[in-house]
Amino acid sequence: MKNKTRYNKGVEKTKYLIVGNGPAGSSAAEVIRSRDPSGSIMIVDREGERLYSKLLLHKFIIGEVPEQRLYLHKENWLRDHKIILETDGIDSITAGVVKLKSGREVKFEKILFSSGAAARKLGLEGEDLEGVYDFRNLADARGVESGLGTAQNISIVGGGLISTDLIDALVGTGKKINLILRDKEFLWGKVNEKAGRYLEQILLDAGVIIFKENEVSKVSGNTGKIEKIKLLSGEEIASDMLLIAVGIVSNFDYLAGSQIEKNKGILVDEYLQTSEDWTWAAGDVCEHPVQGFNEKIVSGNWLYALESGKIAGENMAGEHKQCWSLPVSVKSLRGVSIGYYGDVLAESETVDAEKEDVFYRFFVKDSKLCSASIVGSQKNSAVIRSAIGKEFSTL
Ligand SMILES: Cc1cc2nc3c(=O)[nH]c(=O)nc-3n(C[C@H](O)[C@H](O)[C@H](O)COP(=O)(O)OP(=O)(O)OC[C@H]3O[C@@H](n4cnc5c(N)ncnc54)[C@H](O)[C@@H]3O)c2cc1C
Repeated sequence: MKNKTRYNKGVEKTKYLIVGNGPAGSSAAEVIRSRDPSGSIMIVDREGERLYSKLLLHKFIIGEVPEQRLYLHKENWLRDHKIILETDGIDSITAGVVKLKSGREVKFEKILFSSGAAARKLGLEGEDLEGVYDFRNLADARGVESGLGTAQNISIVGGGLISTDLIDALVGTGKKINLILRDKEFLWGKVNEKAGRYLEQILLDAGVIIFKENEVSKVSGNTGKIEKIKLLSGEEIASDMLLIAVGIVSNFDYLAGSQIEKNKGILVDEYLQTSEDWTWAAGDVCEHPVQGFNEKIVSGNWLYALESGKIAGENMAGEHKQCWSLPVSVKSLRGVSIGYYGDVLAESETVDAEKEDVFYRFFVKDSKLCSASIVGSQKNSAVIRSAIGKEFSTL
């Protein structure tokens, strides 16, 4: 506790305050420490875990990756870097002072918001029953891992990349898997149309039962535990586990009373600075500009979180660097790679192409390539990444 000094009337003080210890907050803290060896750094995180990989959580639930291998930092990492991690939540922020959920108050000089995103809820009664999980963090994954011992009928809601992970992990377990999609296809809109059909066939061949253009309308169970779900179509599906992966919502409730500008995320400029001085945001909580396009997006991406956290940390320590990092994700479904380069949700025109069993979808906006998805070998991904932001007709 060397770096933390008691302030008058019980208010504590830190030079750098970081809200959230995911990849964004953690990489910011690391770079700040390398630039400012003696400045006090406090991270407040409601999970209170040292940095772990969310990208391996689906392997952890089926026992393929042990919990210890999820951790990306050694046990002493925080202490060795003289960083204080407080397991607490942020309640509110006013004029350079943060109020924590526990009632403590901390005065800061510079603050980084890196509180990530929460899973979007279905908004249904019964969503709090035992056996219903968001699959957003290690605590959820521990619950799923222990529930899998007895669960036989598993329903997954949502047709995105987290569902891809879950299905890929669970199809080999012998459990019955139901997939409920609001859209007309798996990964609808995001991948080449032919690739979408190909991936769907892979799911069917693996025994996944798919309910398309449907939604969960009711979650029920009599003993405090989920027993079944009902769909809008009226069908009832026996489910002793429900995994919800229907998108994310940036976590910034604690800014409700603040003047800091927000939209879907906390709005930042290319320096990751918010509308207030001495205040930055990085990772899933920020809505950031995209190079070459007149728009801001929430990336929801590990690599973006790491890189934006690092640059925000450098800027907090006195530099003036721009962040133009692109969100990039690569997943695998039954051995088939699915890669997203840039924001594939962008409202844009799409152009599909296919070459040597690799399926491409290009997203084009203002006649420039804004993002792409590849299903199959990702060996051309570097070329495609470097073309993002350039005139599409010249490619
Ligand atoms: C199962 C899963 C698989 C994924 N797979 C991929 C993938 O393959 N590729 C990819 O690019 N991305 C993937 N992602 C997304 C990626 O993990 C996130 O984009 C990344 O973790 C965002 O980092 P972050 O630091 O911004 O936020 P987070 O990692 O969410 O960390 C934020 C931290 O802030 C804390 N916090 C939140 N609110 C408060 C508060 N009010 N007070 C205090 N602390 C708070 C949270 O407890 C959390 O520890 C996956 C996510 C999940 C859940």
